[in-house]
Amino acid sequence: MIDKKKVKIVGCGLSGITSAIILKEKGYNVKIFEKRSHIGGNCFDSNLCGTMIHNYGPHIFHTNDEEVFKFLSKYTEWVPFKYQPKGETELGLISLPYSKKTIKEIGRELSPDEIKKYLFKDYSEKQWGVSFDKIPKTITNRIPDTAKMEDPTWFKNDKYQCLPKNGYTKMMGKMLDGIDVKLSCTDEDWKKYHADITIYTGKIDEFYDFKFGRLPYRSLKFKHTVTDEKMSYLVENSNTKKHNYTRKYDHSYFDLNHNQDITVVTEEYPVEYNGKNIPFYPIHFGDSGKAASKYIELSKSENNVIFVGRLATYKYLDMWMAIKQAMLKCKSL
Ligand code: FAD
Repeated sequence: MIDKKKVKIVGCGLSGITSAIILKEKGYNVKIFEKRSHIGGNCFDSNLCGTMIHNYGPHIFHTNDEEVFKFLSKYTEWVPFKYQPKGETELGLISLPYSKKTIKEIGRELSPDEIKKYLFKDYSEKQWGVSFDKIPKTITNRIPDTAKMEDPTWFKNDKYQCLPKNGYTKMMGKMLDGIDVKLSCTDEDWKKYHADITIYTGKIDEFYDFKFGRLPYRSLKFKHTVTDEKMSYLVENSNTKKHNYTRKYDHSYFDLNHNQDITVVTEEYPVEYNGKNIPFYPIHFGDSGKAASKYIELSKSENNVIFVGRLATYKYLDMWMAIKQAMLKCKSL
């Protein structure tokens, strides 16, 4: 055991929580600082009028990584879950991802250009807030590898596709058992707390006072409606410009213990990140590349600060990836 005993962790999302568990097990004295009033970052779920909602968009746990699955399974039971949205398109309501089932519904196969036009163009323009030709070809030229499958799920390649039986917040609450967490903290709170090591899971540009400029993000706005009109399927993607939202979902499908007539339907609107709303998706095109590399390079020179998670590494990470990254970085400490 090295003599650096005190660790402060900035951020109580899955990255911060996983780091805390690993380091506590290694004998460190850990304390988490979280600026929101709740644990769990974007994986937080909560009760709205009797329905458990995923406050920051539906989260389906999926992975092929046995270590990550085994790790989380200490804190929750799982229920298998198939994420299979419908898409509202100019060709009618179709099953997604694009598959043999979709082809049957449309009555014919779509050419690559038609797939772009009907499935990707409007959706991507709404998602990223720029015209289709400004979005890199690596995103817009994707031809679904599901075309030859019968009725695939969205995460079709993953062995585990499931939801925690009683929700993410319950699971993360158990993960935090015995770990000191300060919620609703200010930056001053964690900055003045003395520790030998900092695990930082906040925005990397903010950590460095934006010295190379502000990194761009896309944010989201959620419009929740409590209603007795249940949707006939869990999610409807909006692949046209008819609506400004990109998807609409019924939380009763994600609430495995739902047992009442009313539900919550949410519309998800991509919006500009303005520094005050939540930075959800890093924007890896346009001018962000150089500044992001400078921040990442600078972060490598820190001796006692470890940058973990989607904001601190400026990467979109699925849950299992965030957990795996935290495990790898903290195990080597
Ligand atoms: P976060 O969850 O963002 O947690 C970071 C925490 O740090 C936050 O609580 C934040 O408030 C706190 N923080 C930041 N700065 C400070 C500061 N200065 N001081 C104190 N606290 C600070 N993944 C999947 O595997 N399946 C899905 O279906 C899925 N769906 C998603 C849907 C949406 C809409 C989005 C946006 C993401 C989705 N993800 C999904 C990804 C998943 O949300 C992330 O993998 C996960 O949240 C990463 O955890 P994190 O701890 O790195 O980041």
